[in-house]
Amino acid sequence: MIRVNKLNKSYGDLHVLKDIDLHVQEGDVVVLIGASGSGKSTLLRCLNFLEIEDSGEIYLEGNLINPRQSDLTRVRQNVGMVFQHFHLFPHMTVLENIIEAPVHVKKTAKNEAKKLAMELLEKVGLADKADQYPYSLSGGQKQRVAIARALAMQPKVMLFDEPTSALDPELVGEVLAVMKELAMEGMTMVVVTHEMGFAQEVADVVVFMDEGKIIETGTPEQIFESPREERTRQFLSQVL
Ligand code: ADP
Ligand code: MG
Repeated sequence: MIRVNKLNKSYGDLHVLKDIDLHVQEGDVVVLIGASGSGKSTLLRCLNFLEIEDSGEIYLEGNLINPRQSDLTRVRQNVGMVFQHFHLFPHMTVLENIIEAPVHVKKTAKNEAKKLAMELLEKVGLADKADQYPYSLSGGQKQRVAIARALAMQPKVMLFDEPTSALDPELVGEVLAVMKELAMEGMTMVVVTHEMGFAQEVADVVVFMDEGKIIETGTPEQIFESPREERTRQFLSQVL
């Protein structure tokens, strides 16, 4: 589904991603872990072409995406993204938030977009909130709306950047439950999270990043129970 070859990205003098190689198979959940500043968000943003790499290649479904030539609006339709801070449109209802991109970007008929939106709200347990505005929702509810909104474009891959980091602890579980359900339905997902329980339970592949490099990749068992690299061990001893 995704193949990244030797990706490099700098901000000025700061070399943030260093020769990143990453393969994501269809249906896999890949969890990216690593300390703050290690480049996890930048990598996700490159996968969605919110950032453009300096060098290297990104293939989606086998197609090389040249960000300087490709129609990125179309490419992004296949790659949904959920952010730490929800980014809902505050002046739109929940339903309007969800149908916005399908109607205006994908040109889906409004009735059809509404029908899918209601199905997605049902799925994330918020069908009764369709006509509410974001301010009236809890953080966990906002994030579930943000997930429904990303799914409304019917993406092939979903990227999650610390989707539960801004939530009160008691609201984390409801968002992780939705993500877990999505994973079980076979969605291809790349998830940046500090929720090690989620990584252990749901990930097919765990990737540990440090200082812009992928240090180690493996199954949750390999990474959490017998990490090969000292740096992985150190990081895990701080977070587990
Ligand atoms: P992580 O998500 O792992 O915390 P980031 O990808 O956000 O790491 O950041 C990696 C490094 O790149 C950090 O040193 C950060 O300060 C820097 N950085 C991120 N975005 C920008 C930007 N737009 N301009 C300059 N530096 C940035
Ligand atoms: Mg980040």
